[in-house]
Amino acid sequence: MKVLIVDDSNSIAMVVGQMLKTAGYEVERAKDGKDAINVIKENSNIEVVLLDWNMPEMDGLEFLQYNLEHKIVNGPIIMMTTENKPEKIMKALENGASEYIMKPFTQDVLITKIESVTTGGE
Ligand SMILES: [Mg+2]
Repeated sequence: MKVLIVDDSNSIAMVVGQMLKTAGYEVERAKDGKDAINVIKENSNIEVVLLDWNMPEMDGLEFLQYNLEHKIVNGPIIMMTTENKPEKIMKALENGASEYIMKPFTQDVLITKIESVTTGGE
């Protein structure tokens, strides 16, 4: 399964990418929402998107809104956030995020979260 990490932080993208590769996932990375649009166009087999909130060019919420209009993501989007404010989490969910995960997170939490959104969730 291929996962796209969308995060402007190289170090976070590296750490999260390593967690995913160790667990057997394939990884693509984009540095902001605009970059993510291009990476998705070149990789039709991306099944999960891990999306940062705060990024230059196009942030996570703007990317969600772009996707609502253009439907480029085939699969769940998990918002990665340092924001634990309920209204921000609600806003992400209202704009098409399937789940959210609080930074910093462990590999176990990340994999459990990805499995929960990719196995039907019943
Ligand atoms: Mg960021």
